[in-house]
Amino acid sequence: MADNEGDVEFAGGTIGGSENVAYVQTLESFFEEAYKKKIEELSEFYPDKRSILVDFKDVEKFDPELADELLDNPEVILKAGKEAIANLGIKNASGDLVVPNIRIINLPQDRNKLVRDLTSVYLNKLVSVEGVITKITDVRPKLHVAVFQCKHCGRMYNIPQEDELYGKLTAPGVCACGRKDYKLLLENSTFIDMQKMQIQEPLEALVRGEQAKTIDVWLEDDLTRTLYPGDKIIVTGVLKLIPPKKKDTSVYGVYLKAISVQKKEKEFEEIEITPEEEEEIRKLANDPNIYEKLVRSIAPSIYGHEKVKEAIALQLFGGTKNKVFPDGTRVRPDIHILLIGDPGTAKSQMLYYVYKLAPKAVFVGGKSSTGAGLTATAEKDEFGEGGWTLKAGALVLASGGHAMIDEFDKMNPEDRDNIHEAMEQQRVSIAKAGIVTQFKTETSILAAANPKFGRFDPYQPPAEQFNIPPTILSRFDLIFPIRDILDTTRDKKMANHILTAHQVAGIINTKVEGIKDEEEVKKRVEEITPEIPPEFLTKYIAYARKHVNPVLTDEAIEKIQEYYTELRSLGSQQDTVPITARQLEALVRLAEASAKARLSDRVLLEDAERAVALHEAMMKEVGVDRKTGKLDYDIIATGQPKSKMEKAKTLLNIIKELQKHFDAVDLDKIKEEAKTAGIDEDEISDLLNILKKNGDVYSPRNGLYKTLEEE
Ligand code: ADP
Ligand code: MG
Repeated sequence: MADNEGDVEFAGGTIGGSENVAYVQTLESFFEEAYKKKIEELSEFYPDKRSILVDFKDVEKFDPELADELLDNPEVILKAGKEAIANLGIKNASGDLVVPNIRIINLPQDRNKLVRDLTSVYLNKLVSVEGVITKITDVRPKLHVAVFQCKHCGRMYNIPQEDELYGKLTAPGVCACGRKDYKLLLENSTFIDMQKMQIQEPLEALVRGEQAKTIDVWLEDDLTRTLYPGDKIIVTGVLKLIPPKKKDTSVYGVYLKAISVQKKEKEFEEIEITPEEEEEIRKLANDPNIYEKLVRSIAPSIYGHEKVKEAIALQLFGGTKNKVFPDGTRVRPDIHILLIGDPGTAKSQMLYYVYKLAPKAVFVGGKSSTGAGLTATAEKDEFGEGGWTLKAGALVLASGGHAMIDEFDKMNPEDRDNIHEAMEQQRVSIAKAGIVTQFKTETSILAAANPKFGRFDPYQPPAEQFNIPPTILSRFDLIFPIRDILDTTRDKKMANHILTAHQVAGIINTKVEGIKDEEEVKKRVEEITPEIPPEFLTKYIAYARKHVNPVLTDEAIEKIQEYYTELRSLGSQQDTVPITARQLEALVRLAEASAKARLSDRVLLEDAERAVALHEAMMKEVGVDRKTGKLDYDIIATGQPKSKMEKAKTLLNIIKELQKHFDAVDLDKIKEEAKTAGIDEDEISDLLNILKKNGDVYSPRNGLYKTLEEE
């Protein structure tokens, strides 16, 4: 270390001149008056604890002019502030001067900004932004005070580097010996911890469906190591320029150098609801036609799909939150829905519509996904400048709301592993490269997927047609196949719906006259206008999600129980598994959501009936073993009907038996034995494929099979 040990924090003599001296004096009396006690308390723990929070309002009260200066010239004032605190002469137990970091909080309203509002007007000024952390890098040491030695005369120079985040090192000028040739002495220099993160605007603050903007934020010293992706924070900091990488360009990037970071425990500013609106909301809740109105308010320009729309309506409200059993087990309240099926059936359109309707939502389109993914990852990338970056995906960012995931089947492999936990336990755990952490994913998923081979074949199990494993499929509460069926009556109606919707939209926008008479246009407009205006529906949903948490009544329980046991006993008669306990929870969630949709704190029989009807509709579409015509949930849960799985198991036993006599088993031998076990020859290759896919059997040579079990 160079000569001036005690005042390294503000070394280099950059604070000088009469102006600064005046600031230092004013600040000295400010800290003396308002913060001396706090600094003395801190001195007990200094330097382990080395920051004090300074409320902007205190500065303003003390000296409004100083407060203005702090807003417009933060770096000068904060430096002077440190000097002022040093002048107070407070020492810790070991006699070191206590010079904490000054962390300003509570900026005035007009300095609380959205990322998008951080224009060049605010360069080098103090601003606050709210946001959610999307990614954060490793903690790295950064040169704080560089010690340079003149190669000729050996003189040493302490040069503070604090303002140089992106640029080159600041070196001393010409040495006293008249030369300018230095060596950087790393071992004599001091370093400070640095971490870079990216924050995104809170989804709640965006106008429906807007794209959220991001900004990079630099954290230093004791602000590092305290934050994770997904954290909701308010950063107060100085807006600074990033020098361009290329030389001849005049366009700069900006970043925020954090002065303070506060975590928000609660959600961001929620949607504002006036007392008048609340009255409107209550009125709508009592409307006997509330459910039809809800369904007719979801994507009215899309023809048909009533069941899907009803399910989506319930999903928007969700089940009862914060249900924790006495043993601490938490039940997920969020409903997950998957739309699978033919291309061009308005799946994407529907997702986009719901995205705009939901009070808080993220939309992830298969290809447009920017690598951040669905869950969370730790990877080495450019943002981390070679180090690790921890990134939060859509489900983390939308926690507390909804995620629309288009082309769900095109998920990256890491997400594929993480998504089970994210969907059911509603968290993602990352343990990689020394990073061990968890993220909340309390998010409802509305996903869409296209089949692998063009069209959806109702005679094949969904798991075989979509690039989604059954373990993930079975975590959806409802799965709807959306099929493009040839049906003349329906086709005609739908064509008319779509075409006149285009026509009417055209007439309204262009005001071209004489195409259709006014009355008719009005009637059609009404048909494709949401029954409940979208802005109001969003508020209605937000209100219900916040205030209503319905509880099951005995009548509702009875209904669900009856449906469940009926299906189970049907299963034991026909040797299938039509429903599992997981589905029971799905039914509860749907029934709760139905009660929530009319702001009822009780789940009544009618709610249970609605849930059952939706579930039944789904089972009839995707839960039927087409060979036997029987209801069988195993088609979803294992990807195969139980009848087929049973046969596959039988076949596996046959191979195991034969293997006792042969090293590898010949296909003809398998066929022979299978026949006596009642398995058709034409089923065998299919069954062998299942066994191979499950890793039970492999084929060492063409026509020969072996089990994978240890001998
Ligand atoms: P997918 O995602 O299912 O492949 P898209 O959402 O991209 O399909 O829809 C393709 C187009 O067809 C959209 O412009 C959509 O509006 C239209 N379309 C398909 N089905 C309907 C429908 N039932 N009602 C209205 N428009 C429809
Ligand atoms: Mg699509």
